[in-house]
Amino acid sequence: MERHYARPRVVVSRCIEFDPCRYDGSKIPSPTVERLKSFVDFIPVCPEVEIGLGIPRATVRIVRIEGVDHLIQPATGRDVTDDMTSFATRFLDSLPPPDGFILKGGSPTSGTSNVRVYPSAEKSMAIERSAGFFAREVLKRFPHLPIEDELRLNNARIRDHFLTAIFTLAAFREMEISRDREALARFHAANKFLLMACHQQLLREMGQWVAGRSVHDPEPLFVRYREMLCAALSRVPRYTNNISVLQHILGYFRNRVTSDEKAYGLRLIDRYKAGHATLAEPRDLLRSWVIRFQERSLMDQTFFAPYPFELADLPEDITERGRDVWKDRRPPVTRERTG
Ligand code: SF4
Repeated sequence: MERHYARPRVVVSRCIEFDPCRYDGSKIPSPTVERLKSFVDFIPVCPEVEIGLGIPRATVRIVRIEGVDHLIQPATGRDVTDDMTSFATRFLDSLPPPDGFILKGGSPTSGTSNVRVYPSAEKSMAIERSAGFFAREVLKRFPHLPIEDELRLNNARIRDHFLTAIFTLAAFREMEISRDREALARFHAANKFLLMACHQQLLREMGQWVAGRSVHDPEPLFVRYREMLCAALSRVPRYTNNISVLQHILGYFRNRVTSDEKAYGLRLIDRYKAGHATLAEPRDLLRSWVIRFQERSLMDQTFFAPYPFELADLPEDITERGRDVWKDRRPPVTRERTG
């Protein structure tokens, strides 16, 4: 059951655990980014430093002038909108294909949501909340990729979903280099239960697409599969889907475990259903049965360990002050209880 994990390629705001490049010369701590350094190929970037604002520097803010947003440094009166826009274009054009982004929350440049937009460079109340200037370009170009800010990753459910997506996309990216149709079929089979938990309808469509692999040219075959994979992974697994998957897997062992063991497995699933246990509890029990009975058809299922186990016990540190962290973001995020 030991699996090889491809290293996700993730663009990260440079001020998060990499360099003290914030406006005041500070660095942002993030237990998730720190732990991920051993498993991920990070591409750190600080757009404000890249456009020459220096460290330390006067802060910038988004100012809406006649309906158009500008990035302005009130202390100097500089309008760096064009500099920032052309840097974002240049940088994102030159990127090797990324698997995800971790950007600094709240920043007028890098924040993915909730960034204040002001009516003037003078002291004033915010009129709206939006994404930062650089983050807007990222969201526009990569709407299908996992994009999070470091604060949201302090939430265990959001982090679990993000890590699952980046490690699955990295595995696909590694596999797709070969353009081998049979490797694609194996990838799809190994991710069957993980995808079932995310999006049952897309799983069916992906299965049909892979089943017809011999009639498609490799290029469109892989491109279309990747689109469907990204769409499926952008959906947060519903806990009801997770329960269906757990019950389905339990069915493999119905006649092989004792009635007490089966009752215990069902009790763990019920505890998860009632919100008293995490997904890991029933999932790990079922995984132990896969190993015990050497159930070949389930051995490779990524559902059991979508990312390295060293990343599963990161500290839970909610810093969102009680705000519902599923809110305020892109539509694919379903506000429903998940793993
Ligand atoms: S938030 Fe973005 S622009 Fe600001 S210091 Fe961090 S990386 Fe640089």
